[in-house]
Amino acid sequence: MKGNKENFDAVIIGSGIGGLVTASQLAAKGAKVLVLEKYIIPGGSGGSFKRKGYTFDVGASMIFGFGEKGYTNLLTRALKDVNEKCETIPDPVQLEYHLPNSFSIAVDREYEEFISKLSDRFPQEKEGIRKFYGTCKEVFKCLDSMPLLSIEDPAYLLKVFFKAPLSCLGLARWLPINAGDVARKFIKDPELLKFIDIECFCWSVMPALKTPMINAGMVFTDRHAGGINYPKGGVGVIAEKLVNGIEKLGSKIRYKANVTEIILKDKKAVGVKLSNGEEIQSEIIVSNSTRWDTFGLSNKDKGLVAREFVPKNEYKWSKTYKPSPSFVSIHLGVDGKLINENFNCHHIIVEDWEELENEKGVIFISIPTLLDPSLAPVGKHIIHAFTPSSLSEWDNLSRVEYISKKENYYSFLIEKISKIIPKLDKYIDHKEIGTPRTHRKFLGRFEGSYGPIPNKKLLGLLPMPFNTTNIKNLYCVGDSCFPGQGLNAVAFSGYACAHKIGSKLNINDFKLPN
Ligand SMILES: Cc1cc2nc3c(=O)[nH]c(=O)nc-3n(C[C@H](O)[C@H](O)[C@H](O)COP(=O)(O)OP(=O)(O)OC[C@H]3O[C@@H](n4cnc5c(N)ncnc54)[C@H](O)[C@@H]3O)c2cc1C
Repeated sequence: MKGNKENFDAVIIGSGIGGLVTASQLAAKGAKVLVLEKYIIPGGSGGSFKRKGYTFDVGASMIFGFGEKGYTNLLTRALKDVNEKCETIPDPVQLEYHLPNSFSIAVDREYEEFISKLSDRFPQEKEGIRKFYGTCKEVFKCLDSMPLLSIEDPAYLLKVFFKAPLSCLGLARWLPINAGDVARKFIKDPELLKFIDIECFCWSVMPALKTPMINAGMVFTDRHAGGINYPKGGVGVIAEKLVNGIEKLGSKIRYKANVTEIILKDKKAVGVKLSNGEEIQSEIIVSNSTRWDTFGLSNKDKGLVAREFVPKNEYKWSKTYKPSPSFVSIHLGVDGKLINENFNCHHIIVEDWEELENEKGVIFISIPTLLDPSLAPVGKHIIHAFTPSSLSEWDNLSRVEYISKKENYYSFLIEKISKIIPKLDKYIDHKEIGTPRTHRKFLGRFEGSYGPIPNKKLLGLLPMPFNTTNIKNLYCVGDSCFPGQGLNAVAFSGYACAHKIGSKLNINDFKLPN
């Protein structure tokens, strides 16, 4: 093939955190990898961009996995493995909820404080609250007490089992369970069950009955254990540091490198083709693009794999999971006077429980400058807010209709944010508005989706696919693989993918990680 002057052990399509952790882990094990990113910066939904002196996070800004202890702090570990570290700023509160029926509550880093505030609001459920969040702690303890970096490799699983047999058995027990079923065992109050729904929805975009207990155990405990920590300089710094680490180890990343095809020969992945016609060969190809984009799983779309070679199980997966809605996001630069320094960084507004899963049903608001003022010019703050919105709302509009709809959504978001930050509209210095079309275009994600959600209630995490595919030498990584969305979750997926490839290349360390 032309255009392949260097030999790479693996080519990774996409520099989302899943792709970068795969690349950095492989580089740390001694492999030479090439990351191909179609955009101009790394990180995907976990990147940052700069405008007029402001640094805005593309998507993620509430970051788990940055603790110092245990095994679930995968972002800290992934950076350390390539000799990098992010300076982080601890957030004293995960987020503050503003819910119907004048129910507002902040989730403190301090576990007992949160539990006691929630119990004050629901005194009759005091015991149930302790039991539910206590069960989440048990799940977390299983996860955090063993170096579980791959679930696909039986030899590795056996080693982990000998190190931590009880934790392994504990995890196996929780794999097919959803958080809502556990909540219903202990809690009866309908409003409290709705609260558990929004606790799940804010990161899984699903109510508790469809949210796997493993993920809930992780999130509802890590926020009090390792805590929520913001990377100084913006979330994009995580990706930038992973790229530094990868390059220092002799591997490479190329930007504006749009992969249009995964080349197959004798039903094996042997290379990729870029939009400029260049072909690059490698014996291992990893796609950090979503499964819908990799395999063209919707009727209309052509994927990276030619239709005749798409494995049947991928179509089956797309019947089990559907793409969640995308978002309309606004990024604002505002006058610093507007926001008190004791205000919490992350907020969620729900005005009507019935609208939770609908278009514009939930408003997410983050003000990361409260943690890191260096993200804005002196005397200013940034506000990032978004609300779920489906691509179908935005397709087939004329230019004029599109612009007018954007302005309507913008006004809607400003009005809602003004409920917690009054007079916001008077103090805006800079604004950016992104629609599902923007997310689809700049993040290269099918329908601009946040990620896969179950089509119906499933057995917890069991149906989520791992990294190998039914095409030899082709792997997938990122949020359409086990265990799903979120930076720490895709970092797990990256570790697992690199482990699986590492065992094929025979470069894995025999010892379990410390
Ligand atoms: C608005 C929003 C808010 C969020 N908030 C949080 C949060 O607070 N905390 C949290 O933990 N998570 C949050 N998330 C989720 C989290 O950001 C994602 O789950 C995670 O970043 C997905 O990572 P990924 O590795 O799957 O890839 P992605 O981030 O999707 O990156 C994939 C990369 O691959 C590139 N690519 C795709 N196709 C090709 C191709 N053909 N050729 C070359 N390159 C290609 C893309 O350009 C992109 O850079 C949020 C997401 C969004 C959208």
